[in-house]
Amino acid sequence: MKCDPNLYRAASPSLAVKPRLVRHLFLPPLIIAMMIGLGCIGFWISEHYGIRSLSENGQRQLELHARAVESEISKYTYLPSLLELETSVSQLLADPTPEHRQTVNDYLEGLNRRSRSRAIYVMDTTGRVMATSNWRDVDSYLGEDLSFRAYFQNAVRGQPGRFYGIGSTNGEPGYYLAHGLEEHGKIIGVAVVKVRLEAMEERWQRARLEAFVSDENGIIILSSDPARRLKSVVPLSEETKEKLARSLQYYWFPLNELQPLARETLSEGVEKLTFPANSELVSDDENISYLAQTRPLSDTPWNFTLLTPLQDLRREAINQGILVAVAFALLAFLLIAWNERRKVIATRLAAREALQEANNQLERRITERTTDLRASNERLKGQIRERRLAEETLRRAQDELVQAGKLAAIGQMSTSIAHELNQPLAALRTLSGNTVRFLERGQLDVASTNLKTINELIDRMGRITASLRSFARRGDDKGQACLGKAVDAALQLLGGRVENIHLQLHRDFTDVQVQIDQTRLEQILVNLIGNALDAMQAQPQPELWLEGEAFDGKYRLRVRDNGHGIDAEARKHLFEPFFTTKPGEQGLGLGLTLSASLAAATGGHLGVEHPASGGTAFVLSLPLVSLTSAEPI
Ligand code: ADP
Repeated sequence: MKCDPNLYRAASPSLAVKPRLVRHLFLPPLIIAMMIGLGCIGFWISEHYGIRSLSENGQRQLELHARAVESEISKYTYLPSLLELETSVSQLLADPTPEHRQTVNDYLEGLNRRSRSRAIYVMDTTGRVMATSNWRDVDSYLGEDLSFRAYFQNAVRGQPGRFYGIGSTNGEPGYYLAHGLEEHGKIIGVAVVKVRLEAMEERWQRARLEAFVSDENGIIILSSDPARRLKSVVPLSEETKEKLARSLQYYWFPLNELQPLARETLSEGVEKLTFPANSELVSDDENISYLAQTRPLSDTPWNFTLLTPLQDLRREAINQGILVAVAFALLAFLLIAWNERRKVIATRLAAREALQEANNQLERRITERTTDLRASNERLKGQIRERRLAEETLRRAQDELVQAGKLAAIGQMSTSIAHELNQPLAALRTLSGNTVRFLERGQLDVASTNLKTINELIDRMGRITASLRSFARRGDDKGQACLGKAVDAALQLLGGRVENIHLQLHRDFTDVQVQIDQTRLEQILVNLIGNALDAMQAQPQPELWLEGEAFDGKYRLRVRDNGHGIDAEARKHLFEPFFTTKPGEQGLGLGLTLSASLAAATGGHLGVEHPASGGTAFVLSLPLVSLTSAEPI
């Protein structure tokens, strides 16, 4: 069965190939672009929330450490005002004798030791140091004029002097707290405490905290990282630089700006600072970012800044971004795989359905075809029955024809038979009359000879009638015949005619057994030899050749004469029933038709040849029974 091509027809190339090509061309770059995009978004969100969380945490840290700084500074706030209560100080300021100075020096030295400050000293209203805790030191402040110091100028005006500066004597940084000493509502001098705040820096370093304190000028005065110290967190104009240099607040140290690569304000007091990789502040090769949170310190014009490195956060955000990208890639891969699998299943289902459909169609067609075959089988059976019936009818008709042919032949032969029988009858009449006379005369030997002759004549007449009887008898398809006997019988039947024309007979065949009824073979031979005799009637030297040969399981007997032959027109109709060229009652036109049909009925054949030498040759082929018993005749 042919399957319906429509069922398996693939989609047209324009529909099937293009989308796949487009998919293969654009899907990978699209997935990569989406991976990068989602990775960036993941990175950004992670960084954003990380910064927020860091900022919240940093706020607490900022508060904690700023408070620590405030308490460290405020610890000394009361100290200069204490000196107001000390009478030796007011005596010195009122009467600066060496004794009074020494007394105050000793007192200040002891106080300084107990309070663990760096130095405590007292100035008069002109700014000259009258007494100091470090009077023993070589670089003692004693007698120095520090009126240019801002803390002095504030304190002498009755304002609290808070000042971070680098000492002009020994270049040592310190926090100066100044207080105007009052007596009877009038300022008589200024008491100053110098405190070192480096301990805080050490504490920050130990705690691995990155922080700094910037003063009112924006200059970093305390920093966990020494490299940041004395850097400005605000832009410095040349004018400001000069002013600060003149004030000697920072001694002679050059003031540079702390230059971040990028500065991003996230909220009030919260910034994101990025320092370049080659910065002296950064030891690593890559840029480093910090979350800078700033808060003012109470009681001072200073700010405390806490720096939280964003490296880890950044690394984590990158990891999160990569994770998101990988997760997306995985998801995309799973989706593609799922889609491909879905398509494969869909294709399989479609193929299965198509197969099922084809199968159904096949079954339908088989059923149809089976019905057709059954019908045609029934038709064939009917035809076979009809053919058998027709064959039976034909056979019967053939038998009838054979019989009719025989009878016709007998009719044809009746003249010669009558002639055949009349001759011996006439001879018998004469001989019997003679014999009676010879007996009356007593010539017994002559009478005996006549009687013998009469006997022979009666035998001959008996043979003639016997062969006529056997010829007229019905035969059948089966049976065996002896070729030699059949030829003899045929010649016997045609004896009178053979003798009349003085036929020269050539017998060149073997006495074989052939598969045909003896009578039928005789009938065929009577027909063939009879026709030959008819054709040779005008021939002065008639000759008949009976030539046989075995060939391919059959025996071929050629009956050839040297008669007038058959013309071209007659050759076409030879084997047609009732075709005859013989005049009047002589021919029926059934001889050859019957002979051919009798030969064919036993599996043999009757054909005709027209020899170039003239005459006609009929070739009779019959199946052999066996050749072994064959003897040449
Ligand atoms: P019939 O002998 O009654 O005419 P046949 O069927 O035997 O019918 O022969 C048909 C015709 O074939 C004859 O009339 C004759 O013309 C031709 N025919 C048959 N045998 C020979 C032969 N040996 N030589 C010439 N013509 C022949």
